[in-house]
Amino acid sequence: MAKKVLRRTRYQIKDKQELNIHLTSLSGERILGKVREVSSTGLSFELQVASEELPVLKDQVLSEGKLVWEANEWAFGRSVVKFVHKSESKVTLGIMFIDSHAPIEGPLSKCFKMNLEGNMAKSELEYSSDNSSLADFLGKDDGSVDIFNKAKKYHFYHNSLQKSVRWGYWIPREPSKGIRVTLTKKRSDGRNDFIVMSSNDYLGLSARPEVVEATKIALDKYGFGATGSPITCGQTEEHERLQETLSRMFRTEATTLFNSGYAANIGLISSLVGPNDLVIADILSHASIYDGMQLSQGVKRFFKHNDMDHLEKVLSRTRYESNGCLIVAEGVFSMDGDAAPLNDIVSLAKKYDARVMIDEAHSFGVLGKNGLGLSEESNLLGGIDLTMGTFSKICGTIGGFACGSKELIDWLNVSARSVFFSVALPPSTVAATNKSLELFQSEPQLLGKLRSNIEFFTSGLRKMGFDIPKDHKTAIVPVVIGDEEKLGKMYKILYDSGIYTIPVVYPAVSKNTCRFRFTVSAQHSLSDLDYALLVIKRAMEKVGLAPKEIALKESA
Ligand code: PMP
Repeated sequence: MAKKVLRRTRYQIKDKQELNIHLTSLSGERILGKVREVSSTGLSFELQVASEELPVLKDQVLSEGKLVWEANEWAFGRSVVKFVHKSESKVTLGIMFIDSHAPIEGPLSKCFKMNLEGNMAKSELEYSSDNSSLADFLGKDDGSVDIFNKAKKYHFYHNSLQKSVRWGYWIPREPSKGIRVTLTKKRSDGRNDFIVMSSNDYLGLSARPEVVEATKIALDKYGFGATGSPITCGQTEEHERLQETLSRMFRTEATTLFNSGYAANIGLISSLVGPNDLVIADILSHASIYDGMQLSQGVKRFFKHNDMDHLEKVLSRTRYESNGCLIVAEGVFSMDGDAAPLNDIVSLAKKYDARVMIDEAHSFGVLGKNGLGLSEESNLLGGIDLTMGTFSKICGTIGGFACGSKELIDWLNVSARSVFFSVALPPSTVAATNKSLELFQSEPQLLGKLRSNIEFFTSGLRKMGFDIPKDHKTAIVPVVIGDEEKLGKMYKILYDSGIYTIPVVYPAVSKNTCRFRFTVSAQHSLSDLDYALLVIKRAMEKVGLAPKEIALKESA
């Protein structure tokens, strides 16, 4: 389908309404006019001087400007002249705002011909899923006085996306667990049973009877809530036991717990990196690392994905302009499934007097001889300054953790605001995590099965022509499609065939690398995976894509 050209909605001024514009050129000349049309990014107006005295030219920058109507004013700072149209009787100018967005849905709206609702309905096309992406709505200044107006606009996009073929999100699960589930949304043939290929429950521990039983016992002992933050009354013997187990596993002196991996990253990074410090991370880092950096008051820098030359360049340029420096490494990247070159990162950190924090969210339970993560895989267990991880993958439960020296953990316990100012994990979920870790350690065959399943699935994809590296060892297996329309069609075929995964699109990944992010679990049988491979192949053929074509497109 041909792409529609996205145009900002332009609002005409009511017939009897006066909306005057006052501009000042860089050399101080004043320009006055009557506004005819406004959009969020610019406007057009009729000049109120004779054309031979015209002081403006196309592309000229004007230093300040304001709109005036009745007793109101809106100042918009600098603007640039985009066009100058001269006719016998009038001169019309178009300008674009440089510093601001017009509050078109706020105070200005009463100057426009249509009421706000009318205009919003007209812009349905503008916000459709064909013309927009989530990135058009997130973190944008939309110029509205009503802070909820962004939700109103997003609603058009949301409704349109929900009707499209690539909507595969928020589908409720019927009571069912593990790798085979039933969903409330039916397949085309009326069935609703699925093989899950998007879960983080890599070892299948979420539904293990022993884990469920441990939860029930703790519920009876403690009730549900922790009833307070760990520093007040939220800590229990279950929490203490979990901390000790993790310290032992990661060969560190101490551990602290968080309500999630997300809460851990935002708390850790923001507590360590002060106003005169530097924090550096891979450009493909998880959102929680970005948000932790955002919350910190330090200087933030990123290096190209897994590019150690670039990391060194960033360090050599910026390191000594700051006091302390934290490099955040990610064990396994959540959208790409590859691992960071941890040994190189640690060497660079030593060379430049920096500390290293590793996020083992997707590597704990997967990489390393005993499944302890990338630090174990890199022979650095116990040698990383700060290890962060989550229970939402390996344990099938919830919560985050940080392991390090006793003095570091004591500091984090008072300075990481997501520990100090938030209720502790419920004792029953901590008991579930304790049981999961017990099973993980006493049943090494779980890790063995996960690894053989990863090998089976990735070699199947390789045989189909996909460019999956030979040493791919992680449970996250991205299959890049690169065309959102084809991705949507393939998603429907997969869903109708009983394979449950989600399409990953921009802005989670770049537009030309939209993908399926399959995850493999120890719970999958070889025939589950064989069937998934067959369905992927069939879907590729149906949408007319060959893996080689995709690989070419990716490198283009
Ligand atoms: N770090 C990484 C690398 C992740 O992928 C995730 C979530 N998938 C998190 C942190 C957050 O973990 P949680 O889901 O436990 O909040």
